[in-house]
Amino acid sequence: MPDIERVHVYRFCPRCGAEAMQVVSRQQVHCGACGLDMYHNPCAATALILLDREEQVLLVERAHDPARGKLAFPGGFVDDNESVEEALRREVREEVGLEVGPLQFLASAPNTYPYGGLIYPTLDLFFTGRVDGFHAAQPLDGVSRLVVRRIDAVDPAELAFDSMRRAWQAFLDRRAQA
Ligand SMILES: [Zn+2]
Repeated sequence: MPDIERVHVYRFCPRCGAEAMQVVSRQQVHCGACGLDMYHNPCAATALILLDREEQVLLVERAHDPARGKLAFPGGFVDDNESVEEALRREVREEVGLEVGPLQFLASAPNTYPYGGLIYPTLDLFFTGRVDGFHAAQPLDGVSRLVVRRIDAVDPAELAFDSMRRAWQAFLDRRAQA
């Protein structure tokens, strides 16, 4: 079965059970029987461009689909009742075992994330941060290995998502202006 956008998964209304679901837009479905409107705004996700003192960047190789085997900045989805910064610190801890200091917002970019047969729209929020070194980093949840690269050795084609390529370009642009 091909992946479908999340709004197209509804056949029966989850409230009244009628087979009357209409797709209004990429983010809204409506029940023609009981009037239920359901909104599917983007899922918030976050990732960290993490540098060490030698201007190297920490990348993770993704152990699972989507984009299995591609490189990514550590990060993940924001949980309910969590700030983006809290989510990012949690995800970095879970994926690479590091505690990061101050976070600086870099850029945001929309993305799509196919998972379990559905395509989720996401809004990816990118931050930068620093640690002294990556010696304590380990490949943990969802990570098959760690990759440390000099900034000029990062190939955007290796990155998992377009949103990450956009964030990386924003990072390079900001460095060039500094
Ligand atoms: Zn209904």
